[in-house]
Amino acid sequence: MSLVNPVTQYPDNPDKERQAGTGLDADLDVKAEHGEGSYVGSAKLVGRRALITGADSGIGRAVAIAYAREGADVAMNYLPAEQEDADAVVAAVADTGRKMVQLPTDITDEQAARKVVTDAVEQLGGLDVLVIVAGKQQAVEDILDITSEQFDETYKTNVYAMFWMIQEAVKHLPAGSSIITTSSIQAYSPSPHLVDYASTKAAINTFSKALAQQLAPKGIRVNVVAPGPVWTPLQVSGGQPTDALDSFGEDTPLGRMGQPIEMAPAYVFLASPESSYVVGETLNLNGGMPTP
Ligand code: NAD
Ligand code: MG
Repeated sequence: MSLVNPVTQYPDNPDKERQAGTGLDADLDVKAEHGEGSYVGSAKLVGRRALITGADSGIGRAVAIAYAREGADVAMNYLPAEQEDADAVVAAVADTGRKMVQLPTDITDEQAARKVVTDAVEQLGGLDVLVIVAGKQQAVEDILDITSEQFDETYKTNVYAMFWMIQEAVKHLPAGSSIITTSSIQAYSPSPHLVDYASTKAAINTFSKALAQQLAPKGIRVNVVAPGPVWTPLQVSGGQPTDALDSFGEDTPLGRMGQPIEMAPAYVFLASPESSYVVGETLNLNGGMPTP
């Protein structure tokens, strides 16, 4: 295999774009790379049963594709409005023969979020990997302009739903299971326009490290992935101010944004027994930005 330079492995930013609403991968003009045509599995997750939130697009899509190609059966949660994207994920891994259960549900509602977990357990015949990827990020320049509604939705999506779903899943996860949450470089290097979002990502990191110690004696490992700037619908549907999109990722040491596919191997590693002695860790995948 020839050596690959990570600086030029994926494209730097072409002209950026902006979408209204939540943002569909299907509507991205500048396509993101999720490994549909490139990810080759090596039986790392055969027999695993995984629930992945936010599995329709972006980072969650790359994880869902990788997990299916590694041999796992997968339950996918996502916003019902993003069904089109979720269907593309199922199509991408149809040839694996793995079970792909679709659970479109808004998880800002407690009962609905808990039901996603019990539905996944029922339809997969059990659960041993829970991957929390779903997230909400809306840039607002001025603290005076952050509405209580946005603050509430951001915390409900990123923090409360994580808590509800983990609490429900712990009732079912056997020893050997993994819980993987998704933080961000924003947890330590917050942007001035992401006050609410960045603080949820710090909460996710700390919540996970506390819980990791509590669940380790039961044989359940909790770990975190903290991405840097990654090209997904989240960023072009209000996640960044419009004028910031053109230089998105350029301030990383690699000088470019990341692609969802570059996140997937960390989630595979943390779900597989290869990471058996990794507990309460945060894997920072951010193109080289220093972290604590
Ligand atoms: P994305 O928009 O492709 O994925 C987020 C998904 O979350 C959406 O597809 C949506 O279906 C789901 N979601 C949002 N609100 C929901 C709700 N109420 N109920 C159910 N599902 C809901 O964007 P992404 O960038 O791949 O984001 C995935 C995760 O990665 C998020 O937690 C985000 O904070 C984190 N992250 C992203 C970046 C980045 O630069 N893209 C950087 C650091 C962390
Ligand atoms: Mg989506």
